[in-house]
Amino acid sequence: MLKDKDRIFTNLYGQAGVDLPSSKKRGIWDRTAVLVKKGRAKIVEEVKASGLRGRGGAGFPTGLKWSFMPEHSPLPVYLVVNADESEPGTCKDRDMIRFDPHRLLEGCLLSGVAIGAHHAYIYIRGEFVREAEVLEHAIEEAYKAGLLGKNAAKSGYDFDLYLHRGAGAYICGEETALLESLEGKKGQPRLKPPFPAACGLYGCPTTVNNVETIAVVPTILRRGAAWFSSFGRENNHGTKVFSISGHVNSPCNVEEVMSIPLKDLIEKHAGGVRGGWQNLLAVIPGGSSVPLLPRTLCETALMDYSSLQELNSGLGTGAVIVMDRSTDIVRAIARIAHFYKHESCGQCTPCREGTGWMWRVLERMAEGRAEVAEIELLLQVSKQVEGHTICALGDAAAWPIQGLIRHFRSNIVKRIEARQLAERQPVAAQ
Ligand code: SF4
Repeated sequence: MLKDKDRIFTNLYGQAGVDLPSSKKRGIWDRTAVLVKKGRAKIVEEVKASGLRGRGGAGFPTGLKWSFMPEHSPLPVYLVVNADESEPGTCKDRDMIRFDPHRLLEGCLLSGVAIGAHHAYIYIRGEFVREAEVLEHAIEEAYKAGLLGKNAAKSGYDFDLYLHRGAGAYICGEETALLESLEGKKGQPRLKPPFPAACGLYGCPTTVNNVETIAVVPTILRRGAAWFSSFGRENNHGTKVFSISGHVNSPCNVEEVMSIPLKDLIEKHAGGVRGGWQNLLAVIPGGSSVPLLPRTLCETALMDYSSLQELNSGLGTGAVIVMDRSTDIVRAIARIAHFYKHESCGQCTPCREGTGWMWRVLERMAEGRAEVAEIELLLQVSKQVEGHTICALGDAAAWPIQGLIRHFRSNIVKRIEARQLAERQPVAAQ
């Protein structure tokens, strides 16, 4: 378990103030100039050595991503912070912004130095109205205190930060759709390559990072890469904020060490499963887009990239959705399928047509109005959507369905057979 002295997010529950003086008391903006003066190469090296991987879902090594940015660019270079947090079950970035905005702002400056950017944008989800107000206020405070702008934090580095509110579309959390939206266009993902490091915002080199990824950078630089990498297993280092929701006694956000057992996370921080562990049916461990795990696998699962991948699921955003035995699991996945159908931007055929098709079949299956042979067909279609689209929304739509069929095929079969039996009975009775 993570000790209090090792917590990065020391105001995750809003018990202290969010203003600049209160933030400074928590160590934020403390001798930031010294960190800036470490210089670009050293900051990138330190973050690489820390083992930090992107906390937005993909888990790409942050230092490595930064090193893709050109050393000398004739064009402006941008840092974009993805605060579009829209993955169902995920609510960690919201609380970081709400209760610890200056931690993010300081992270923006230091990450900006790491990629050679003098301008950064925070793209915040449209529905986060209050959080946008908090950030706006914090940015104002930082400018007034000389922490942003010319000679930011007296470091000799000029750095401007802008807040941009989205309109509330899930797909704008995809980095290239986010850039399109930021440019004032319809939020639709771009084909890659070129990747944003070569051609991003306004055609300039850009790095897009998640809120949590950026917010942990100052602490890594202060406490050192060795401290951060001392948590978690090989390739899964650091601390992580998990969001635990669903059928638990105390839903919460909590910062913990990577690789913590899933069972411990639920029992020690979320008050356990409603009705006890034996009442657990399944857990979606990383936001609605990753395949669920039945209780038997939850016993041994560790909350890190490697363990969950081995179990054919994923850490995603670290949003743990707990479902007890009262859950209609087929209907639950049908509801998730509806979400992805609704959020598809429609550019590519497998996603545009496939998400709707899969949702309609699942709806019928939830009522038993299907043939058993359709389960295999549904699985095949999900595999034709997965990996055949411009962005990862296609995968996000396919994986929950594959998880359902992998672990709960017999539930679907029973439901179909029960319906067929019920429909035959009146005929037999005549
Ligand atoms: Fe749009 Fe879906 Fe294609 Fe992504 S996968 S670009 S959301 S149609």
